[in-house]
Amino acid sequence: MEINFKGKKALVTGAGKGIGRSVAKKLVELGADTVALSRTQSDLDSLKQEVPGITTVQCDLSDWDQTREIVGNIDNIDLLVNNAGVAALDKFLDVKKQDIDWCFDINYKAVFNVAQVVAKSMVARKSGGSIVNVSSTASLQGLEDHAVYCCTKAAVDKLTKVMALELGQYKIRVNCINPTVVMTPMGKRVWSDPARADPMIARIPFGRFVEVDEVVDSIMFLLSDKASVIHGVLLPVEGGLLTS
Ligand code: NDP
Repeated sequence: MEINFKGKKALVTGAGKGIGRSVAKKLVELGADTVALSRTQSDLDSLKQEVPGITTVQCDLSDWDQTREIVGNIDNIDLLVNNAGVAALDKFLDVKKQDIDWCFDINYKAVFNVAQVVAKSMVARKSGGSIVNVSSTASLQGLEDHAVYCCTKAAVDKLTKVMALELGQYKIRVNCINPTVVMTPMGKRVWSDPARADPMIARIPFGRFVEVDEVVDSIMFLLSDKASVIHGVLLPVEGGLLTS
């Protein structure tokens, strides 16, 4: 199966590190005119050095108005990967309001905000398009210390469904991927301790976490015309974790 994005323009959020960085690089490899948006300028500088053909845009997605302005100035987006995300872990009894606000601002409100700006432009241009929201298996399970994170991702799942319902008539496909643990900078921060990781791995029939490229390939599939009638799905990328 060959995927080609020649003639398409893509926007990836959270493209400075981890999954988003690899997604942006893959999109360039497959021919897309790619815009990598992230928070830390030095990450964007090193990405630009690695992939000179990429366009980089610095933006803090927690700023609603600035995000609308910056994303609104990127013309003709056909493919959107809403990838940026953060995790604040704590026991339910200890969670602070500021962590709830921080996580919902980036994991949910920014997804909503960016997608709304991009989809409005797709509708106005009658271009159609494809949007992939990066959720997590955490949206579908209860995970210790993840009360806030799980809820932000459950919100992304539900947003994906409603977007799919409303945007299908404009030929805008909207899907979501739900990976289990990936050892990105975020994954390492949360899952490096074997006391936390081992019980999780024990629940995965494949007996391992997933690799960044396995998530990237799933996103490429959903973005592409190979998934032409796949719409409104939550695609688990998890070695069978959710089967148990
Ligand atoms: P990383 O922390 O490794 O990378 C996240 C990227 O998002 C960074 O470049 C970060 O920039 C950027 N970002 C965070 N906050 C903002 C912001 N306010 N504005 C702009 N950019 C921002 O995370 P992963 O690659 O692991 O995660 C990517 C997505 O995948 C997330 O949505 C995450 O929830 C999801 N996911 C991750 C899993 C995992 O185990 N790693 C499993 C399942 C889902 P900076 O560092 O400058 O803040």
